[in-house]
Amino acid sequence: MSAVLGSAAGRRLIDTAREFLPRGQLLPEDAWRRRHRTLSILLRLHVVGLFIFALIRGYGLLHSFNEAAVVGVFAVLAWWGQSHRRFSSAMCSLGLVTSSAVLVHLSGGTIEAHFHFFVMVGIMTLYQDWLPFLVAIGYVVLHHAVLGTIAPDQVYNHEAAIAQPLRWAVIHGSFVLAASVASIVAWRLNEEQSLRDALTRLPNRKLFKDRLDHAVARSQRQPGFIAVLFIDLDDFKNVNDTMGHAAGDQLLTTVAERVRACLRPGDTAARLGGDEFAVLLEDLLTPGDANRVAHRVLEGLAVSIPLRGKDVLVKASIGIALGGLDVPSEELLRNADVAMYTAKREAKGSFAVFESSMHVAVVDRLELESELHRALDQGELVVHFQPLVQLDTGRLAGVEALVRWKHPTKGLLLPGEFIDVAEQTGAIVPIGAWVLEHSCVQAQRWRQQYPGQPLSVSVNLSPRQFQQSDVVDMVRRVLERTGLDPTALTLELTEGVVMFDSEETEAQLHALKALGVQLAIDDFGTGYSSMSYLRRLPFDILKIDKLFIDGIGGGPAESAFARAIMKLARTLELETVAEGIEGANQAHELRDLQCDLGQGFYFAKALAADDIEALLGSTSAAPLSQLPASVRSPASP
Ligand code: C2E
Ligand code: MG
Ligand code: MG
Repeated sequence: MSAVLGSAAGRRLIDTAREFLPRGQLLPEDAWRRRHRTLSILLRLHVVGLFIFALIRGYGLLHSFNEAAVVGVFAVLAWWGQSHRRFSSAMCSLGLVTSSAVLVHLSGGTIEAHFHFFVMVGIMTLYQDWLPFLVAIGYVVLHHAVLGTIAPDQVYNHEAAIAQPLRWAVIHGSFVLAASVASIVAWRLNEEQSLRDALTRLPNRKLFKDRLDHAVARSQRQPGFIAVLFIDLDDFKNVNDTMGHAAGDQLLTTVAERVRACLRPGDTAARLGGDEFAVLLEDLLTPGDANRVAHRVLEGLAVSIPLRGKDVLVKASIGIALGGLDVPSEELLRNADVAMYTAKREAKGSFAVFESSMHVAVVDRLELESELHRALDQGELVVHFQPLVQLDTGRLAGVEALVRWKHPTKGLLLPGEFIDVAEQTGAIVPIGAWVLEHSCVQAQRWRQQYPGQPLSVSVNLSPRQFQQSDVVDMVRRVLERTGLDPTALTLELTEGVVMFDSEETEAQLHALKALGVQLAIDDFGTGYSSMSYLRRLPFDILKIDKLFIDGIGGGPAESAFARAIMKLARTLELETVAEGIEGANQAHELRDLQCDLGQGFYFAKALAADDIEALLGSTSAAPLSQLPASVRSPASP
């Protein structure tokens, strides 16, 4: 038998049965307690009721007491063993079906009394556990088939039944079976509702956890590997915020379908909540198989999803944890989560396999999160300014404000080390507002101090600021408070802001434009470039990412992209800024390509405000690239 069940066909049969039958034992503790209390009361009422019924039926006091006491014993056991949930449930079940048997017996085998059995068997599914249910069914079988054959007059008060007890046992058995099927279907539906995610119909966290527990237990006994994939969508919040919840729901449903389609029938895909999914892979031949599945899932998601007439691309980050000896299921899931976190931080749209060193990195990050919350209040943030230079004259045209964090123990941190965290926690909203205010105050001071060099300032805005705050109102107030000429302020937005091209973002951009500020598209060419937004949205400046500038000076093939972008910008009448210029040859070639402004270490790194002032004092005469290196790039980053 075990050989049959252990075979592939046997396991398929078990899987199919698992699919259609309720799982059992998944009732939460508090729900179980409530139900058990109710059923125990029902059982105690039976003890009293049967005693009275026996007396009414004319039995003596002692006999009546004994009949009720048999049931009473189970009532005591069900109450006494409450710390052992399954034992108590089984005792309660035994008590109630024994009540049925006693009732049948006291009523002299009246057929109508048998209905009591049907009701009790159905009621047992309230425990949503196979043990009490099978106890009830087993009892009915024993009672009808065994006792019914040995002493048919005790069971059936019916001549035909007494003459043919086996036939009657079969008829009754069929009725009980039919009643059980109805109860099991209800039980399964009930379970379905509490174990499946209502939107995607995938198993929810609870069912996933249950399957994982089983898989972990099984894997300790059998060869083969198990693995958990933790999948988290990147930038899902953007879709929800800019396209609405209905679009978000549709996206999740599509993702669920695509993840499912990447798996074998025996594997489990679940939605853990929000934009988090998990996959359980069983019977893997090699650990590398999990990587292959992760690959497939990423590929499956790489095809754009049509949402409200637009093609939206979602990426996902996946963490993989492999099961091993003595790795409990909670740890497996947590490890996969940690690996996902690492994957997301390193490169969105990728996967990572868990290693124990990742724990340390995640703890570090959580620490950073909590420290960042108070960094602003503690005055630990500072703004440095990187010069923007006119490529034809070499003169200083403006500065870009770049935030830094003077961390009490880690020293000066660059945005790359904390902006992502700030984005994810929402801390970027107050930080961004502070950077804007601080930069405008500074720029206004410089413009008044050096009227001959009317400096403009560029400030980065994060997508989160667009979604979470009234960014237009914020900018208007800052301009009013600081008195800065709006045309001297450039707001830099990455393609992340315009990614979903929603009407709301469009309206916000037009309102910003109406304030008189300049709008720049930052890191052009690295994000999602459907490019159609460039025509419709009111941008003035296009900042070409360093990625394309790096190739310049290395021959026509390497600089082809930069040339093409420059041409595009000219056609759209956008001013161009080349980011990350590091060498003289790049600066010269870009100037020949008629790029307007340049920014990069070749001219200057981001400098503290004092250093910019020194620069302002000395650049009126000399082009920036001819200044001594000590002024252009002081020691600080
Ligand atoms: P970004 O807006 O594209 O800023 C340019 C980044 O390139 C700066 O890095 C700058 O130091 C660096 N860079 C400039 N020239 C060169 C070069 O020649 N070589 C190299 N290797 N790098 C160069 P930084 O300061 O680390 O800032 C990184 C990013 O952090 C910024 O990219 C921006 O997206 C973000 N960021 C900085 N400050 C803020 C802020 O206040 N708010 C928001 N939302 N984002 C900010
Ligand atoms: Mg920028
Ligand atoms: Mg940039």
